[in-house]
Amino acid sequence: MELRDFEIKEITNLTKGNSQSHPIYSFKLVPVNGIMYKFRPGQFITIFSEDGKLFRSYSIASPPESDFIELFIEMINGKMTSYLSKKKEGDVLKIGEPRGTFLLDEKTKSVYLAAGVGIAPFFSILRHSIMKKEPVDSYLFYSVKHADDIILMNELKSFEGIGLRILINVTRDQKVPEHFLQGRISMEKIKKFVPDYLGRKYYICGGLTFAKDLKASLIKEGISEDSILSDIWGEN
Ligand SMILES: Cc1cc2nc3c(=O)[nH]c(=O)nc-3n(C[C@H](O)[C@H](O)[C@H](O)COP(=O)(O)OP(=O)(O)OC[C@H]3O[C@@H](n4cnc5c(N)ncnc54)[C@H](O)[C@@H]3O)c2cc1C
Repeated sequence: MELRDFEIKEITNLTKGNSQSHPIYSFKLVPVNGIMYKFRPGQFITIFSEDGKLFRSYSIASPPESDFIELFIEMINGKMTSYLSKKKEGDVLKIGEPRGTFLLDEKTKSVYLAAGVGIAPFFSILRHSIMKKEPVDSYLFYSVKHADDIILMNELKSFEGIGLRILINVTRDQKVPEHFLQGRISMEKIKKFVPDYLGRKYYICGGLTFAKDLKASLIKEGISEDSILSDIWGEN
């Protein structure tokens, strides 16, 4: 795999510091040799440690038009996230080339289903549509444990201007703001808010249980397997 050095230009904590959740950091990376990787929205890169023994993949959240790569990383204190927590702006990371098949079928109306930091590839997809000034006909169901875990709400709202409909699901708070939905994303909610749910493509991004459960519910409801694409990240 091709590896390129990328300098960390900016690290920002995107979450509001709810102590019950891990923070999500934005890492903005620029290629040291000035040559950006080409990629398609929905793809991921791989970060390697200096000795190459530790590597983990991260979805790209920035659009291909940017002169940097932005990642949203949930700092869970695992091996790579601890390694990254010691890094600072100006440090260099080894980045493997973009890969992945979580790619949008632009001709079909879509429903995006994201859990937590699984929102990352949808930012790339939507920022790309904004850059191209192309309207979308998509619904985004975004699930977070706590209302405070939502990242970049203002930017998310700006995607409504190109046709995105946003439904935020809060799973752990007892009380949720009026315009949010309580509990997990479910088939009942999808059917309630998406009148033409049978004719759409579904893009699921998040942990294994989230993706498996939603996929099973969609299939049970008559959505064909070819209309469902999932990007599964781990056990959680
Ligand atoms: C294609 C792809 C794209 C990905 N994109 C992203 C991304 O955009 N942002 C991102 O943050 N991660 C993303 N991941 C997950 C990422 O690759 C790492 O698995 C994650 O950062 C944990 O790595 P670690 O080495 O710190 O933890 P490890 O030391 O590998 O794992 C520690 C333990 O934590 C568990 N764990 C993993 N994730 C979580 C979590 N979120 N909360 C609680 N426990 C967890 C693991 O199951 C494991 O048991 C992606 C994974 C894949 C395969």
